[in-house]
Amino acid sequence: MGTMRLDKLLANAGIGTRSQVKQLIRKGCISVNGEIVKMPEAKADSEKDKILANGKDVFYTEYEYYMFHKPAGYVTATWDKQDSTVMDLLEVPQKEKLFPVGRLDKDTEGLLLITDDGALAHELLSPKKHVDKTYFVRVSGTLLSAHSEAFASGINIGDEKPTLPARLDILSTGEISEAEVTIREGRFHQIKRMFAALGFQVLYLKRLSMGSLRLDAALEKGRYRKLTEEELAQLK
Ligand code: URA
Repeated sequence: MGTMRLDKLLANAGIGTRSQVKQLIRKGCISVNGEIVKMPEAKADSEKDKILANGKDVFYTEYEYYMFHKPAGYVTATWDKQDSTVMDLLEVPQKEKLFPVGRLDKDTEGLLLITDDGALAHELLSPKKHVDKTYFVRVSGTLLSAHSEAFASGINIGDEKPTLPARLDILSTGEISEAEVTIREGRFHQIKRMFAALGFQVLYLKRLSMGSLRLDAALEKGRYRKLTEEELAQLK
């Protein structure tokens, strides 16, 4: 990104609005390479300089990346004529530029990445890239190893082609069974349809991970946070 005004750099990094970051700078909360800088117009370089805000590393990205814990009852869209959308729960600057990557059903919970980085979204969703998505699932009925084998060979769910091989790790069985499922595609209602093809009804579905990105266990339903520098580096 090169050199720019410190207040602009901090605002771009999501530290606050331009006037909030100016105040932080004047209050002496910002250091550049170990020196407190009190002038908003001072120049800094996000790549070369070590910038701290209240002692914490400022991590500057061209785009925004949020990890969101989707609750049931919200549709994954930027707008809907009747339902609340996941975007209704997000209160962040420049929200109109952001969109969810991929879609979870209205009753599905769990990990959703929200960004304005169209190229990364495309990479993660491209069927050719085969990004693994892992879900926790609760189904009616008894899951057996034969069902794991069926998932491993791919299941005919009424589309032109059967699904790609998927993984079913059974966690518990009984009248209601629990498992983790990993798929590499993202067909419409894919997991529900895979279980329906084997005679099971999905009672609860939650996405746990997408590629290297895992839902932060500390993130409550309906809450979000920025991706860390490490999470983003691993995802790219
Ligand atoms: N598969 C489904 O059936 N629903 C989802 O929300 C995600 C995967």
